[in-house]
Amino acid sequence: MALKIAVVGMGYVGLTTAVCLAKLGNDVVGVDKDARKVKMLKGGKLPIYEPGLYDLFRQVVNSEKLVFEESIPRAIENVGVIFICVGTPSLSDGTADLSQVEEVARTISENLDSYRLIVEKSTVPVNTAKWIRRTIELYSKGRSVEFDVASNPEFLREGRAVEDFFHPDRIVIGVDSERAKKLLLELYSPIDTKVLVVDIPTAELIKHASNSFLALKISFINMIADLCDKTGADVKMVADGMGLDKRIGRAFLDAGLGYGGSCFPKDTKALFRIGESYHLDFGLLKAVDVINQGRVERFIEKVKDALWVLKDKVIAVWGLSFKPDTDDIREAPSIRIVRRLLEEGASLRLFDPKAMENVKRVFPPSGRLLYVNDMYEAVDGANALLIVTEWNEFKTADLRKVASYMKTPVVVDGRNIFEPEEVKKHNIFYYSMGRGKSA
Ligand code: NAD
Repeated sequence: MALKIAVVGMGYVGLTTAVCLAKLGNDVVGVDKDARKVKMLKGGKLPIYEPGLYDLFRQVVNSEKLVFEESIPRAIENVGVIFICVGTPSLSDGTADLSQVEEVARTISENLDSYRLIVEKSTVPVNTAKWIRRTIELYSKGRSVEFDVASNPEFLREGRAVEDFFHPDRIVIGVDSERAKKLLLELYSPIDTKVLVVDIPTAELIKHASNSFLALKISFINMIADLCDKTGADVKMVADGMGLDKRIGRAFLDAGLGYGGSCFPKDTKALFRIGESYHLDFGLLKAVDVINQGRVERFIEKVKDALWVLKDKVIAVWGLSFKPDTDDIREAPSIRIVRRLLEEGASLRLFDPKAMENVKRVFPPSGRLLYVNDMYEAVDGANALLIVTEWNEFKTADLRKVASYMKTPVVVDGRNIFEPEEVKKHNIFYYSMGRGKSA
């Protein structure tokens, strides 16, 4: 049975959720307080890049299964389920900033007239649902309001969000009422996957624990990569050897520039703070963050090893998004790398298939900072090429062409996308992360 649903927050998560729930046949209202975003969406444009999303968006908008609103009160008027998909960024001390979630809960409360199921999809600290419930009760000022709060954490990966919605590894549902459980099971019944029904705090914690564990794997292999650099071992082979052990698995053991994006950095910090708030020592997660923070400086050291002096060198950068197949640059290593290289006095030629417009807002083009439209144009006359994001098109680059375009054939590969022997065939001086001593 199709449900009437409001999705609050039209970011990477909310927009994907709204489009995909509409595709499943539900009647969905997407709401965001950012008037510019709502205007774009109403005008048939997506404010983000996500593979496959645009086609589905067109379909569900044309069939009027998905409409957009700027006002939460209007959006939730006749719906049965409300998904909260607003941001939960870090405060300066790493604690999750829940002000967007609280604001939505207040607005819902003031406009509640009959039963609603309120689903937190945003990544939130364990026991946030209790605060949502309390806020709704508090602001309803004694009016009798009927509602449930549930947790349904989102596990989608940017760049594969649509695929992940329809084919997730699992769906986690945290509920404390039969009515909420029934509604959510019905909503997800078209999706063929394992559905885990648990209590609400458990569901909330599954998300934070999962992201922190993945971040931990990345920092672990980066720690090993540094040892490989000192000893001549090859971190890729170490990771392969480790990954063949089924208890470990190969995923998330790629050494390089570390993790970025809007989730891993903030979620590890938030879980560290949650531990601390209960007087538990989560120093393990602090170490994960410290290792990750150190990756950019390790990379800059390698660039200096390769070029000696950076002042007045022309440096090409391939990849600016925090990972491939997205235009998202939140916490992207590229931002810190570009800043450091400019500080050192280098001239930069930047290329990314999707993220350049977003980066231009941080670093407007200037005499020393050029954005180019083609990856080969970036290396033209360059003293070094830095690989910062592992887009597929970089992996299959014509290295002969790269070498011939460059002033000095130096590649510093922050994502280990090339095989050293292959690159060296083209007389390129090749530096990578944790694969023995430099070229
Ligand atoms: P985002 O910043 O892209 O989008 C959040 C949206 O919420 C923005 O458009 C903002 O304008 C809107 N918003 C804020 N307050 C509002 C209000 N009061 N009313 C209406 N709209 C409001 O964030 P995102 O990347 O989509 O992430 C959302 C949540 O999902 C976060 O908690 C994040 O940790 C989690 N999450 C993100 C990902 C991911 O890959 N991006 C994956 C899983 C979970």
